[in-house]
Amino acid sequence: MKLARELSELERFGPLLDALPGPSYLVGGTVRDLLLGRPPRFDFDLAVVGEAESYAQHLAERLGGRVTTHGRFGTAQVRYGTTHIDVTTARTETYAAPAALPDVAPAETIEDDLRRRDFTINAMAIALPDADLIDPLQGEQHLREKLVRVLHERSFVDDPTRIFRAARYETRLGFRMDPKTETLALLAAPDTRLLSGARIREELFAILEEDEPERTLARLHAFGVDRALGVEFPAGPTGLQDRLRRLNDAYGLGLPRWHLGLLSVRGPDGWLDDLKVIRRVADDVQAAHREEPFLRVALAGGGHTPAEIVEAVEQSGPDTPVYALASAELPALRRYFERLRGVQLEVDGDDLMALGLAESPRVGEVLGELRRRKLNGELPSRAEELAAARELITE
Ligand code: ATP
Repeated sequence: MKLARELSELERFGPLLDALPGPSYLVGGTVRDLLLGRPPRFDFDLAVVGEAESYAQHLAERLGGRVTTHGRFGTAQVRYGTTHIDVTTARTETYAAPAALPDVAPAETIEDDLRRRDFTINAMAIALPDADLIDPLQGEQHLREKLVRVLHERSFVDDPTRIFRAARYETRLGFRMDPKTETLALLAAPDTRLLSGARIREELFAILEEDEPERTLARLHAFGVDRALGVEFPAGPTGLQDRLRRLNDAYGLGLPRWHLGLLSVRGPDGWLDDLKVIRRVADDVQAAHREEPFLRVALAGGGHTPAEIVEAVEQSGPDTPVYALASAELPALRRYFERLRGVQLEVDGDDLMALGLAESPRVGEVLGELRRRKLNGELPSRAEELAAARELITE
């Protein structure tokens, strides 16, 4: 099968094709997405049978781009404009132990390289510059059948991160693991506990960055991956992530998707530290889970003054209010995000000192009292804030 037309339609690929210093293979997700007619990506994976670094050097010279070598086995990156091209030496991989990093050796053919990959739909290559599809494992057929299928029985045992990947592709592409692959995933799920925290974090974050992360997490839950890791994923889509993402956008909270995603996972104290998640985020997420019921009780019913709402919110961590509001609607919290969060005093500590107050803890106290009054609508202008400040200082 020739894919010349598809390649020519691939945005930004033309200059790369013209600049190739010799034969190579387009591999990885681009091939899959090209066959699916999915939107093009701007990073390409090239494999060469032979030496990747010098190939990348030549390619960069011809493109007027730059090269970074990674020091890892035969890998270099060429950048030109905003396009990234990863060039790797075609390789074989063998696993000395379950979940260990593989032993790597140069491959003699591209087919050998394809055989080390995760799923048949990711184990296709396009020979360049001729644009012939190389598909020794029926990847194209499985794309048509919407199947995620491992290449051999030990695939998930060798590398349990593939269980996360399989579930992620199912959600993203609307595919399904074939029954054999599903059984193998179920059998290997306990092996996910052999993975390092950093590798689990990478897989988890990749899921949380995508659309419908809860669907993927629920699938992993069905395999028992969360139990193996000693955490709890949602057992089905709860809508929590949709609501968190909407609140995050509506109120300009600026939290990355992976951070919001962590709020959908329950785990024992310290589990996010084991994953080497940034300490501050780990603390905020765990605080949100702990504090949410208390904040809900504190703000239940009507009749809170604005200052009382803000006080309750500010006694909890930064993720708690958004997590609480995404978990269940609460009018007081809605008010907080809609209006109260933005209420700011027009006077500051310098104004208080200009009024004769010496630098001391009293400055904070007076500002706190002024803010409380302002929230409750008692100080509509700067002049009134200053008058109230003067009164408080001379009290
Ligand atoms: P996307 O980036 O869209 O998720 P991708 O297929 O490009 O998809 P990458 O994680 O960039 O995914 O990996 C590139 C390719 O490397 C994959 O298509 C697959 O062939 C191979 N690969 C990645 N991870 C593994 C793995 N754990 N085991 C075997 N092969 C893998």
